[in-house]
Amino acid sequence: MKSGYYKKIIKYFIFIVIISVLFFFTITAIIKYHHYKDYNSNGVNLVLISIDALRYDRLGISGYNMKTTPNLEFLLSKGGYFFKNYYVNSASTPSSHPTILSGLYLSSHGVWVREDANGNTKCPPASKKLVLLSKILKKKGYSCYAITGGGYMHRKYGLDQGFDIYTTKGDIKNLYDWLKGLVYNRLKEPFFLFLHTYEVHSPYDSPLKYSKQLTGREYNNFSDKYITSEFLMRSSENKNFNSNILKYISDRYDGGILYTDEYIKKIYDLFDNKGLLNNTVFIITTDHGEEFTEHGSFLHNEKLYEELVHVPLVVLSKKLDKRVDIREHLSSVDLMPTILKYFLNYSLPLDIDGKAFNPDKPDVRPVFLEMRDLKRGLLYNNHKLIYNRQNNEYMFFNLLNDPEEKENIYYKKQKLAEKYKEILFKKIKREKYRGDIKYILKPDEDVEKDKDHIRRLKALGYIQ
Ligand SMILES: [Zn+2]
Repeated sequence: MKSGYYKKIIKYFIFIVIISVLFFFTITAIIKYHHYKDYNSNGVNLVLISIDALRYDRLGISGYNMKTTPNLEFLLSKGGYFFKNYYVNSASTPSSHPTILSGLYLSSHGVWVREDANGNTKCPPASKKLVLLSKILKKKGYSCYAITGGGYMHRKYGLDQGFDIYTTKGDIKNLYDWLKGLVYNRLKEPFFLFLHTYEVHSPYDSPLKYSKQLTGREYNNFSDKYITSEFLMRSSENKNFNSNILKYISDRYDGGILYTDEYIKKIYDLFDNKGLLNNTVFIITTDHGEEFTEHGSFLHNEKLYEELVHVPLVVLSKKLDKRVDIREHLSSVDLMPTILKYFLNYSLPLDIDGKAFNPDKPDVRPVFLEMRDLKRGLLYNNHKLIYNRQNNEYMFFNLLNDPEEKENIYYKKQKLAEKYKEILFKKIKREKYRGDIKYILKPDEDVEKDKDHIRRLKALGYIQ
């Protein structure tokens, strides 16, 4: 009687153990599947180019009245997607790039510039916990290389994770020379190449002849000081800025785009000469736009207007044989998952904010905007809501009737604005920092800045 009872217990125990083991392996397999299973792992090479501070409406391919991008136009006509309504979720270099590379909002990755009580700016590095595109591709056997312009893209801000080489080069000519050596001598397939340049960014000191070429003007009476970040920062408060100088500054910026466009073609040709084009996707984009007093300032800081968040996204792929324009809204948080799923044919990491966007079957989605922890915005269809958390104020714009965002219709269209507020606040409620708590800076902490680094940040207009 007793031994039968024990046998039953043992049988029952063994049954529970087997079920538990099976359950454990099934769950592990499901997690592994979602983490690592590739839809069709074929090792497509990726070249991701970030041309810092590139406005959408200043590109020839966007319909600008100056031909700033003849080479890009030519390359795109041979096969590629042009996203006409692509946005960055935040308009600052140190916050926007981690979003591009991690599929996380600024509120999730935690990398934004803070000011301490003395007005000094500080920025934490990206947490080691972030699942960056470079780390994913490294695991899949890619060789990962990055060339950046330094400043907030210096390796000390943590975006070097997963890269075999992460180096800093000054201007686009230096970048190109270094890249040429890499492509001809030691590039290993499959590869992920991340190229970042401040060539278009202030100071707008690309060769003057490119501005002359665009406008036919000579610019004899303009000082070089007008194109420095320091002058532009100082002039941001000036309400009666001289319109001739403004035109000069703006023309120098456009000249920088034309100059960079020439290098885009040269970079593309490097891969063509090595016979790599059939298996390489090129993505050309930026981290934010630039303001030329449209809303009272120069450069890019603290605002979420169109000139700062509406930016270009171009994908060049041999799978297409013509230019395909996409009008649906898409934002930078969706770029990393879109690259993985639709351009490299890989599955997605869990727990990211972004969603893959199928360029051949575009869907309609909201664009959420963030400025540090101070402002939040929502762009959906033709309207944009901006919420200033500091003074609890709202701005609401109809982008179709008022593309320059001059008239705040928040009180006029309050019923519609309330709907936007509801969607925005749902998103704000979901916000959750995903990193490692030690990477949130205390007020007296900062990454180590040596003299060179401080000089670079000053030249770019990030610190005074
Ligand atoms: Zn930037």
